[in-house]
Amino acid sequence: MIESGMNIARLNCSHGEFKEHAENIRNIRQAAFKARRTVSIFIDLPGVKMRIGRLQNGPVLLKKDEKIVLTTRDVPGTEVLIPVEYKQLHKSVSRGRIIFLNDGFIQLEVERIQGPDVFCKVLVGGKISTHKGLNLPGAKLNINPITDRDLEIVEFGLKHGVNTFGLSFIERPKDLVRVRDFARKKGHEVALIAKIERRGAIANFDEILRNADAVMIARGDLGVEVPIEEVPGIQKRLIQKANVMGRPVITATQMLESMTQNVRPTRAEVNDVANAILDGTDAVMLSQETAVGDYPVETVQMMARIAMTTEAQREEGRLFDEGVEVDLKIAQSQSLTVTDVTALNAIRSARALDASYIVSPTTSGNTTRRISRYKPHCWILCFCVHPKVCDFVNFSYGVQAFLLNRKITHQLLYTKLQEFKLVQKGDTVIFTERRLSAHHTDSLCIVKL
Ligand code: PGA
Ligand code: MN
Repeated sequence: MIESGMNIARLNCSHGEFKEHAENIRNIRQAAFKARRTVSIFIDLPGVKMRIGRLQNGPVLLKKDEKIVLTTRDVPGTEVLIPVEYKQLHKSVSRGRIIFLNDGFIQLEVERIQGPDVFCKVLVGGKISTHKGLNLPGAKLNINPITDRDLEIVEFGLKHGVNTFGLSFIERPKDLVRVRDFARKKGHEVALIAKIERRGAIANFDEILRNADAVMIARGDLGVEVPIEEVPGIQKRLIQKANVMGRPVITATQMLESMTQNVRPTRAEVNDVANAILDGTDAVMLSQETAVGDYPVETVQMMARIAMTTEAQREEGRLFDEGVEVDLKIAQSQSLTVTDVTALNAIRSARALDASYIVSPTTSGNTTRRISRYKPHCWILCFCVHPKVCDFVNFSYGVQAFLLNRKITHQLLYTKLQEFKLVQKGDTVIFTERRLSAHHTDSLCIVKL
């Protein structure tokens, strides 16, 4: 998968034990080292994903108009009595409310509530298995989205050198602050990906965006939490906002879903991946296709092919053409920085001279993200001495990160470009630099080799 283009691995801590995740982390790092690629790892915190409990005799088939009971009591599940792990269920629903199971494929209507038991009628039936998800769109949940278990997982991640985390079901910036403070107390800076999968997160999106390091359009749960037909519009709006702010954005879930079982995707799926890229997403994500699918490598290859073809054909630098407008938008929320202006000029120069690369040495990744949001036609090669910064710039569009272990000089950058056989005589390369300023990237150096 790495050789086929995977440059970030997500470990979904909704599934599996620490031992298994630790082994995966080791394997990914080893494979990345062998392939000489930078592969970032992020850990997804399950948060308050609601699930049903264990079904004692395996999957059950719920039929339309049948009556079943969901209970917060700890009982073995059958086809008429299904335990749920969310202990407040009976307090969060009322008569007439629809409960969605298994990504919304199964729908139940609440008829009455008696103590911890919720009596339901099956509106849309189907097969359901142990630990499948449960959604209550729009319900006020009496739970903190960051659980103790999440914090335990953060601790596990930090111990294994992973410092990027996805936060599920959050609705407010303070949920991000909680995890950030927890890590700081342990002496770590983390990069946090806000997963946008509830209505509240959309309502508070601007504030969440300011407090997050990246966002994910988590269409799986989002498509149940809000009417599914609203998802495409939401995707476009949120991606645009994230681009303007220079925050990487991941588009996730069911991108090549049918490849879980088939070696070829559907036409609609190919369009979906391409459209996310045209919308301006930084990253496209695979879930079960690569986690439990029959064709993980073929799926990554397919995704990479769609990306390469789409990038080559799209109107180049849409945001660049709107560059002035973007600058204004930024200026409205914060003043333009020296880095912003240098980044914009790096893009202009690269376009004017049809450059092969923008080479961006960085200490924080800030310059790299500022350049990346304009989606240049050429790769941004990011050189950095801090492994964690290197890991996180990988999330930004069109960035190839290189970790260096000594002071970055012009000479070293040239050597690396040669060593990786990236340049040929006659190529134009734009270097961003920090020359006179103490804190900002303030200069461009343009070289025709
Ligand atoms: P999940 O998040 O796979 O962790 O549920 C992504 C989504 O909901 O789309
Ligand atoms: Mn989700």
